[in-house]
Amino acid sequence: MPDARAPRLEVQGLTRAFGGRPVVDGVSFSVAPGQVTCLLGPSGCGKSTTLRMIAGVERLEAGTVRIDGVAMAGPGLHLPPEKRGVGLMFQDFALFPHLTVAGNVAFGLGGDKAARARRVDELLERVNLTGFGPKHPHQLSGGEQQRVALARALAPRPGVMLMDEPFSGLDNRLRDGIRDVTLDILKEEGAGVVLVTHEPDEAMRMADEIALMRGGRIVQKGAPYNVYNAPVDKAAAAFFSDVN
Ligand code: ADP
Ligand code: MG
Repeated sequence: MPDARAPRLEVQGLTRAFGGRPVVDGVSFSVAPGQVTCLLGPSGCGKSTTLRMIAGVERLEAGTVRIDGVAMAGPGLHLPPEKRGVGLMFQDFALFPHLTVAGNVAFGLGGDKAARARRVDELLERVNLTGFGPKHPHQLSGGEQQRVALARALAPRPGVMLMDEPFSGLDNRLRDGIRDVTLDILKEEGAGVVLVTHEPDEAMRMADEIALMRGGRIVQKGAPYNVYNAPVDKAAAAFFSDVN
């Protein structure tokens, strides 16, 4: 039995520069099963680059990434994204246009046909798209397409889910429901979640731990309540001042 408390994700000293300019500079954090860590900070502070290095779509220059105790990236090591067992949700989701909704959600699922169909039905129900399985993406609204993309990312039960502002394309009416459902599913299944956002409000609602980033570094880390109530400096306080 794996230790239920062992971190799903451990990031140590993650570092990357572009054109000689450091963009991510010694970022370290870990995520326990069922935990949501928010990388929070203003545009350009290195959140997406951090996530992309964890996913393996960007190379790191220094540091290590371990998933369930196994090194995925480090000095002389770079496993490709498909070998890392991570789920990805980005704002610019893309469904396969030639596949049905059910086909999109089942894509990449193993197991027998009946088990796949059960998982697809379960997820479509949870994202409020019961009965949409036979439709094609072009018959769906933008919000519906995004919910299919969420179901597809959740389907293989990834141990680590990496989400880069995945809810920002949704209208407010749908947004709260969908993000609650997404996190409920991930927590139930014991995934470790990294959620990137530039909105303090979203981080306050969703995070178990906030890692506040600035200029490629984590300047403060802690429970949302603590980070909000005891900001590390004036800039951190100002960044949070628009939360209500
Ligand atoms: P965030 O997600 O916090 O907005 P990013 O990680 O996307 O920040 O980007 C951090 C900085 O790195 C930005 O200044 C951005 O322009 C730069 N950057 C990101 N990717 C590249 C790239 N492939 N080439 C050059 N600069 C990049
Ligand atoms: Mg970004």
